[in-house]
Amino acid sequence: MTMLSVGGTRAWIDRFADAAEDQFDSLTDLDRLVGDGDFGMNLRTGLRSAVQRLRSDPPTSPGEVFARTSDAFLDIGGTSGPLLGLWFGRIGAVSGVEVTATDLASALGAATAAVQRLGNAQVGHKTMVDAMVPATSALTEAAVSGATLSAALNSAATAARLGAESTRAMLARRGRAAYVGEHARGVEDPGASAIAMFFAASSYKSVPA
Ligand SMILES: [Mg+2]
Repeated sequence: MTMLSVGGTRAWIDRFADAAEDQFDSLTDLDRLVGDGDFGMNLRTGLRSAVQRLRSDPPTSPGEVFARTSDAFLDIGGTSGPLLGLWFGRIGAVSGVEVTATDLASALGAATAAVQRLGNAQVGHKTMVDAMVPATSALTEAAVSGATLSAALNSAATAARLGAESTRAMLARRGRAAYVGEHARGVEDPGASAIAMFFAASSYKSVPA
């Protein structure tokens, strides 16, 4: 795959939604340890709504797929809804019916910067940003080096997973997890896990059927 089409983007969101169903219990368990336990529910609700919106109002470009996903997350509550809504909304600013690795890297850079500003979160704060930033960097570096979109997304998926795993050693500085202090150490941040799931879902082979 060298370009992302509308169909390919919809399939990506469908696989992300399937992963949120499959990993509902594990995300809920993680968020019970570091948050208020609603993250698995919020992610699943947002993605069920995104899939429904994509069915009822079919998108004509990759940007529209991400924009529908943004609208779905902006409608759900919690801390994660507005942040994921903002992130997907900025990714949805990508234009054209065929999106290259360079286009996607550029949109993702703006999206991740926007989430960092709104959440006042840097790498190391044990949030979704700990997966977003390395994934964005990996995708950008791959795009600059002329990698195919598939290869660039695989690099982003690996970086996001490593970023999510890095949150286990961190003490939270943001969000509800900051109040539980040492209890959160050793636990992967569920928001970062979800971002790793998103990038893993970009590839057919990354998500077992
Ligand atoms: Mg919560």
